Amino acid sequence: MNKVELLGRWTKENSEELYGIKNWGSGYFSISDKGEIIVTPNNGRSASGVSLMDIISGVKDRGFDMPVLLRFENILDSQISFLNNSFNNAIKTLGYKGTYRGVYPVKVNQQQQVLEEMTKFGQRYHHGLEVGSKAELIAALSLMTDREACLICNGYKDEEFIDLGLYAVKMGLKCFFVIEIPGELDTILNRAEILGVKPNIGVRIKVASKAGGYWAESGGDRSVFGLNMSQVIGIVDTLKEKDMLGCLKLLHYHLGSQIPNIRDIRSAVLEAARVYSELIKEGAAMGYLDLGGGLAVDYDGSSTNFSSSRNYSVEEYCADVVEAVMNVMDADGLPHPIIVTESGRALVAYYSVLLFNVLDVARFEVFDVPDTLPDNAPEATANLFEVSKSLGIKNIQECYNDALYYRDQIREMFKHGNISLRERSVSEKIFWNIISRIAREKKKMKFVPPELENIESAIADIYYCNFSVFQSIPDSWAIDQLFPIMPVHRLLEIPSRNAVIADITCDCDGKIDNFIDLHDVSKTLPLHLLNNDEDYYIGVFLVGAYQETLGDLHNLFGDTNVVSIRINDDGGFDFVREIYGDSVADVLSYVEYDTKDMKTGFRTIAEEAVKEGRITASERREIVSSFDNGLRGYTYYER
Ligand SMILES: *Cc1c(COP(=O)(O)O)cnc(C)c1O
Repeated sequence: MNKVELLGRWTKENSEELYGIKNWGSGYFSISDKGEIIVTPNNGRSASGVSLMDIISGVKDRGFDMPVLLRFENILDSQISFLNNSFNNAIKTLGYKGTYRGVYPVKVNQQQQVLEEMTKFGQRYHHGLEVGSKAELIAALSLMTDREACLICNGYKDEEFIDLGLYAVKMGLKCFFVIEIPGELDTILNRAEILGVKPNIGVRIKVASKAGGYWAESGGDRSVFGLNMSQVIGIVDTLKEKDMLGCLKLLHYHLGSQIPNIRDIRSAVLEAARVYSELIKEGAAMGYLDLGGGLAVDYDGSSTNFSSSRNYSVEEYCADVVEAVMNVMDADGLPHPIIVTESGRALVAYYSVLLFNVLDVARFEVFDVPDTLPDNAPEATANLFEVSKSLGIKNIQECYNDALYYRDQIREMFKHGNISLRERSVSEKIFWNIISRIAREKKKMKFVPPELENIESAIADIYYCNFSVFQSIPDSWAIDQLFPIMPVHRLLEIPSRNAVIADITCDCDGKIDNFIDLHDVSKTLPLHLLNNDEDYYIGVFLVGAYQETLGDLHNLFGDTNVVSIRINDDGGFDFVREIYGDSVADVLSYVEYDTKDMKTGFRTIAEEAVKEGRITASERREIVSSFDNGLRGYTYYER
């Protein structure tokens, strides 16, 4: 029995602390008195919250299977307001004379629905869009109705791209071309002359300031994007020659995404503000200072400069940025520019939640060690037995090393035919008994030897879950990014098992074995024992940024079902939109299968079997119809 069971009931406060939901939930996610996760729009200021379990039952009633990605449009609305209000407050408090104009970088989540909601909710702040490719520009142009909002074009631009942007300017949109490579300028000036449009030009610079975090290389001197200072001057000279310095209006840099340390942010803003000020002295029109993205999300809730966190609040970020720009401009006696930021992650991360059910569990069993060994037991087994008897807090490390040594010896002997399978099985029981006791004893140690640090994951249960890491949380696989993960119900019960999560792809990388922890990274996640005949649901939170389109079709698991939810003031909720995930036929068509040919092929095979007398003609009908149903079905496990 563990301490909690002895002291009394497991409460929602215990769950809150264990999973850190108050630290990372930003007020949107919390635990109800019924022990279920509730979602509350407006950073928890709203009175009405909705239980994820109620949403799950609504989803099931409508015939949707797990996994499901939920999008809460109120949360997006809230995050846009939060960012804009934070900038506007900083501007007011500090007496800044310019304004703030945010743009949402489309690449962070390009889904049509996301862009539609972004432009709708962004309108009241004139929040615009940033695009990095022709396809993104075309998507943006179909939705940009706000002439006050900025449309910023980064990325390499061909003639077609440039023409579209120039037409946008002609129609009255605030569309900017940001020059990433010097060669682009000629094409822009050329097309602008032909189409008779004055372009709005920006330059993207490489800042020398470096940032920590996962994406450190995207900024800084070694960044592959952006111009160095002599290239910037080259652009100024070209424009000066053509008497077009009035078109140079914007300075841009992007330090990288998820920047955990506010010092790096401040130092880059200062550097860019200095370049901005110099460009004005060179005679450029300017007016816009675009600081790119980088505003981080506190995925682990630790408020530290760890890569999954950030050591600043959104309010602090805004105040620091505004203050830094203001100080540089005031020192040089220049007007305050319009501050543009391209925050993507911070706007959309909170908005989506991935839900899935657990399909099965492989429990780690602690085997009892027999009291005595048979006389003829192999020597290595006897040695392992001795290790097991002598294990104590004082000799943990020695026992661990010995246990590994004898286990390997036994494996070798087995390979050479010197011991039987049954003998090997006895040894393995003893070995795992030792390892599980070491894991328990380890908790009492002040200094844990590095070899023992990850021992918990070796004895964790494996929860097999109905989702694909590669499709739904690719960054967890690709760069070990951490996301908050927890059960969405039963939070008044003690989660007595330590688990790692395996997905449905059966790929050895299709697993999650790093979890958020306030002080470090945790190798296991506490979960509940499964109840018979009751589904157990787990949520992965803060997955709105980058995960959806980076996901791939590994093992042909396709897009999940998506349900968009609006929470109403009265605490009810509406299913605003449902998008069916990929069917088997859909994913096969992505890899160039022709489903018609496939059906014909299968029918022919089945007809052969009829001819050979293996099945009857009416059995063939049933078999062929199963095949057709399979093609129409969901790629995930269906109940
Ligand atoms: C990716 C990207 C962003 C978004 O960064 P976040 O950290 O998600 O806010 C902004 N600007 C540019 C140029 C980018 O490439």
